[in-house]
Amino acid sequence: MYILVVDLGGTQIRAARCTPDGQMEERVAIPTLAAQGPEVVLDRIRQAIRMVWPQEGPVTALALSAPGPVDAHRGVVRFTPNIPGWKDVPLRDLMAESFGVPTFLANDANLAALGEFRFGAGQGVRDLIYLTISTGIGGGIIIDGRLYEGGQGLGGEVGHMVVEPNGPLCGCGGYGCLEAVASGTAIAREARAALERGASSLLTGMVSSPGEVTAREVAEAAARGDDLSRRIFARAGTYIGLALVSLMYLFNPALFIIGGSVANAGDLLFDPMRQTMRERSQRVYWENTPVVPAALGDDVVLLGALALALERV
Ligand SMILES: [Zn+2]
Repeated sequence: MYILVVDLGGTQIRAARCTPDGQMEERVAIPTLAAQGPEVVLDRIRQAIRMVWPQEGPVTALALSAPGPVDAHRGVVRFTPNIPGWKDVPLRDLMAESFGVPTFLANDANLAALGEFRFGAGQGVRDLIYLTISTGIGGGIIIDGRLYEGGQGLGGEVGHMVVEPNGPLCGCGGYGCLEAVASGTAIAREARAALERGASSLLTGMVSSPGEVTAREVAEAAARGDDLSRRIFARAGTYIGLALVSLMYLFNPALFIIGGSVANAGDLLFDPMRQTMRERSQRVYWENTPVVPAALGDDVVLLGALALALERV
């Protein structure tokens, strides 16, 4: 028997055919063609699924991941920032109708949490919180071995916790969300602004204009000892640490797992996170709450979709 998993992204649709023990037998990646409109994207998803459909043997479930807010209870993608025209798309039921197998849908960061729980750094733990720090910040909450989805299935959006009341505008319309001050986008924005003010930094020699700086260059410069870049990472890590303090008091997780491309900066980000937890919370909390890097790479969302199907079938 097989479970087919799909990761819908703004530029790529990835799909894989999995066995229940987590082996991926076949995988494909095709362009989303988001600019060509919602119907084209739906057809691309169907095409990706057909490409990994087995020649023989039953398909027991289809599990789908989508970016942006997903009403996981109704199986509806509320909207996706990177796919124009997608609003309240009943993706789960559309695919269930097309393929006639039990179908599940969740938000990509929620699924990454489930993937790390079942196959990655969270194995053996019942309660954990996962954060992904990349262009944006997302996350997922596992309580007693299950993904927590919330009243409307929209839960786990740790990136929109407000950590700086008068902070910069966030993509969600709020101000001072964790994502607005600690994401890769925020790190790049801080660096560009400092360079434009004339700050001296190794970054100046790495790009031809401040506008080209991304979080990756800031991480590289910080690793080479650049003062400005180190301060920018320390600030982002401190904000993430503040969010972890609140989450720690609310949920008392056994483990925090931090993934996403910006987390590859390692200690540059993890040291200020852990230090903030020690400074801003009681010992009984922080000394029993490890913060560890994610263990799964690019496949984390696909593996999370597999874990969701295994949990629900
Ligand atoms: Zn926000």
